[in-house]
Order: sequence, then structure tokens, then C-alpha cells
Amino acid sequence: VVWSAEVFNCSAPDTGNMEILHRFGTPEQKARWLDPLLDGSIRSCFGMTEPDVASSDARNIQLTISKVGSNYVLNGRKWYISGAGDPRCKVCIVMGKMEGSDNAPSHLQQSMVLVSMDAPGLSIVRACGVFGGDDSPHGHMELVFKDVVVDAKSSILWDEGMGFAIAQARLGPGRIHHCMRSIGCAQRALHWMMLRSSERKVFGAPIISRANARDTIAESRLEIEQCRLLTLHAAHMMDKVGNKAAAQHIAMIKIAAPRMACAVVDRAIQMHGAKGLSQDSWLNFAYANQRTLRLADGPDEVHLMSLAKTVISDFRKHFAPAKL
Ligand SMILES: Cc1cc2nc3c(=O)[nH]c(=O)nc-3n(C[C@H](O)[C@H](O)[C@H](O)COP(=O)(O)OP(=O)(O)OC[C@H]3O[C@@H](n4cnc5c(N)ncnc54)[C@H](O)[C@@H]3O)c2cc1C
Repeated sequence: VVWSAEVFNCSAPDTGNMEILHRFGTPEQKARWLDPLLDGSIRSCFGMTEPDVASSDARNIQLTISKVGSNYVLNGRKWYISGAGDPRCKVCIVMGKMEGSDNAPSHLQQSMVLVSMDAPGLSIVRACGVFGGDDSPHGHMELVFKDVVVDAKSSILWDEGMGFAIAQARLGPGRIHHCMRSIGCAQRALHWMMLRSSERKVFGAPIISRANARDTIAESRLEIEQCRLLTLHAAHMMDKVGNKAAAQHIAMIKIAAPRMACAVVDRAIQMHGAKGLSQDSWLNFAYANQRTLRLADGPDEVHLMSLAKTVISDFRKHFAPAKL
């Protein structure tokens, strides 16, 4: 991928989608969708989660993809699809279950297809709420697919049945992108903590002069630095050994960074008093955003599960009898 300046203006779904198109797209798919994403002229969204099934396990996905002649027909419902409300969003990478795949292994039943946002039968029915807000104007949208027809050959990514494998491969760059933003957000919250506590006096002295406020500032600095180093290391491992081998480092930072940012922003809210919760502060919006990241791109528990699997498998390889 050529990392142009515009790429740094992209949203998190774009980062993951560009990775998918870069790795699994045909030259025609890249020309149609990746090039305009890279130059920043369009946006994209990623449609996996569904309201009716536990979507942290991608094998549960139910939107059906039926092969009819040379086309696919899509029917189903997705929700919390970030960026789908942005007028610049022109394409959705949709994950669905191939009709008639029930007898295939559960991780080979899904496919990913490229669907233009103006395809007939695809409608945006509402913006899903986040702590009572709607994250407008880009939003996290609920989408209905009613007999949406796409050309099979030019829409399928990689191959039929490879959707789960793509989902597994996709999320490294998107995840670390989120983590970098979380660190930036926490750093900014720390800055605001110090601004507010310097100018505000309680019981005759600035808040920042109190020992517990200073501890809060120090703890926040410490936790931000820990996550920054973990992120740098994960990025280094992704470059050095590739996303797959770096999976445990990506999992670690995906768990740690949003938790840290939630804690730091929460402290900043506390130090601001009522203002921290008010419409005059960005902190409550930041808290909602960081809290979201403990679910989006996989809940903490799923990353803990995969991290534990790798750690235990390494342990067994080196230290434990095979029968364990
Ligand atoms: C603001 C926002 C934006 C989002 N953007 C997108 C998007 O762009 N595209 C998209 O496809 N999805 C998106 N999502 C959806 C998100 O990825 C899912 O919410 C997430 O994967 C969890 O799926 P679920 O909501 O179906 O929860 P479920 O799968 O029902 O899980 C519920 C809970 O069960 C627990 N759990 C799950 N697995 C385990 C386990 N192995 N062990 C122990 N406990 C477990 C966790 O606590 C989890 O939170 C977004 C979500 C939010 C809130």
C-alpha cells in the first residue's frame, strides 16, 4: 500500500478495507475501489455485525449470499456499520453466508463481497445509538439488504467460502489504527486535566497542587507510556514478522489501549467536575468513543481468548508434556 497523506485522513473501516483490497482484491477491484480510497476521494464501510446473532463469532453470520446464474443475491440485515452514513461512503465489504453451505466446515461457509452503496435493494434504515448519541454525520448504520444483486465475478473477494479467513486476516492494521487514536485521545485528556486543574482552585489551592491530583496525573502518564510502547512494539512485529505472527501483540494492544484511554478520560472528567459531562466539554464524547472500542473490532473477551490460546500453546510447546 502506498501510504499517501490522504490515508491518514481515512476512517478506521477504510484502513481495514484497504488492507483487504490490497491483499485479496483483483486488479479490477483495486482500480475501482482501492485507488479512490487511497487518494481520499471515497470512503467505505465494513458490514459484518448483525442484530440477531452473536457477531463476535463471525461464523454465526446469517445474511445469505445466493448464487443465481452469474450473480449473487444478498438478503439480510447488518447493524453498527461505521461510516455507512457518510455521503462519501461508496462501497461496503459485506460478509454473508453462502446459501447451501451448511455441510461445509463452519469457517468455510462465509464469503465477502463488494457492494456499491447505491445498489438497488440496499437501504440505510437508521443510525444506531452510542450512549444516546448518533455519531453523526458518519454514524454507525443499520443496513437492510433486500434482494441486492451483484455480479459474482467482479464482487467476490478472494473466493467463495474465504470470508472467515479474510476477517481473521483483516483486522491488524484497523486495530492498531484504533489504538494509536486511543493513545492520542488519552494524551489530550491528560493535557486538559492539567489545564483545568491548574486554573481551578478548591479549598484555597489549585486542584493541581493536591497530592491525589498529582498522583492521578502521574498514573495517567505512566499508563499512556505503557500503551505507547506496546503499540510501537506491535507495529514493529507487524512489519517484521507479518500480521499473522504478530497476532498476540495486536491482541494485547487492542485490549490495553481502549481500557487505558477509558481510565484516563474518566479521570479527566472527574477533574473537570460537572463540566466534564457537559456539552461544553469534548471529554464525555471521547469517553463514549473509547468505551465503544472495547466492543468494536471484537470485544475484549475475544482478544483475551485468542491471546490466552497463543500463550498456552507456546507454554505447551516449550515447557509442558504433550498430554496436557
Ligand atoms: C460504535 C460501534 C461501531 C461498530 N462498527 C462496526 C462496523 O463498522 N462493522 C461491523 O461489522 N461491526 C461493527 N461494530 C460491531 C462490533 O464489532 C460488535 O458489536 C462486536 O463484534 C460484538 O458483537 P455483538 O455486538 O454481536 O456481541 P455478542 O457477540 O453478542 O457478544 C456479547 C458479549 O459477549 C461476551 N463474549 C463474546 N465472546 C466471548 C468469549 N469468547 N468469552 C467470553 N465472553 C465473550 C463479550 O462480553 C461480548 O461483548 C461496531 C460496534 C459499535 C458499538
